[in-house]
Amino acid sequence: MTQLAGANVVVTGGGSGIGRLMAAGMVERGSRVAIWDLDPAAAAEAAEELTRRGPGRADPYTCDVTDRAAVFEAAERTAAGTGPVDVLVNNAGVVSGNWLTELTEAQVRRTFEVNTLALYWTTQAMLPGMTERRRGHVVTIASASSLVGVAKLSDYAASKWAAMGFDESLRVELRRQGSPVRTTVVCPFYIDTGMFRGVKSRFPKLLPILEPGYVAERVVRAVEADRSRLYLPPTVGLGHLMRFLPIAAFDRLNDELGVNRSMDDFVGRASATR
Ligand code: NDP
Repeated sequence: MTQLAGANVVVTGGGSGIGRLMAAGMVERGSRVAIWDLDPAAAAEAAEELTRRGPGRADPYTCDVTDRAAVFEAAERTAAGTGPVDVLVNNAGVVSGNWLTELTEAQVRRTFEVNTLALYWTTQAMLPGMTERRRGHVVTIASASSLVGVAKLSDYAASKWAAMGFDESLRVELRRQGSPVRTTVVCPFYIDTGMFRGVKSRFPKLLPILEPGYVAERVVRAVEADRSRLYLPPTVGLGHLMRFLPIAAFDRLNDELGVNRSMDDFVGRASATR
């Protein structure tokens, strides 16, 4: 069990979306949460509101997680200000949402920098302290597209497949080292935060567009229970079983499910394309 009352937590991208809501759930349980975000105003506003609600507290930190030196510097500031980190939630993420041939070089690089490479920088900065203190938890917010490639998500899905491989390799390394540090990877279908504004689900009963508050609460509970993997909704996990189908049947089934048209009306948010 990971005890959240009194734990020091970092949530990257904690200024908005499910990051902010996960931070809220942890403050509600008595954690001290360091809200890391690109946007200083979003981090400050979230920290102020969460601290007001208590019983834990939240502190704002500005950090671009793609900048390795900045991550190490922010980790030091966090250890000094909030306290030695027990739980790292790798949540910051971006999406481009376009055909592969239309993606700019900057978009492809940014997707991998934020969704994949940043996982290495934050974990390298914070895992040694957890190992030393013999307690800790690393959470990776991956995606349903960590299991299945999706039209118009070629950079995003690949970066999230990599996030899944990151989590799994980290988990087995920790196991091999006899470390008490735990990991949780989360694979959600689309969430109604604005990041994927405009996306559609063809069968909302089977694959609903998820409520952000519900996702955040499920993640916080999965961390408390030391659950290694969380699929939201659980039907997302069937993506592993679909791999046993011949490829033509696999592709047809995904077409039938509407997966490869889900991005047709994607709008997203401005920050996703910078
Ligand atoms: P949001 O856009 O609301 O949140 C993403 C957060 O990450 C923002 O606060 C953003 O800051 C921050 N961020 C982006 N780049 C950086 C960076 N370089 N350094 C620091 N912070 C950064 O999206 P969600 O809450 O929906 O997404 C959270 C996570 O969940 C992501 O990893 C996403 O890929 C994943 N996910 C989301 C799904 C969805 O449908 N929404 C589905 C499956 C997974 P700013 O706003 O200032 O740019």
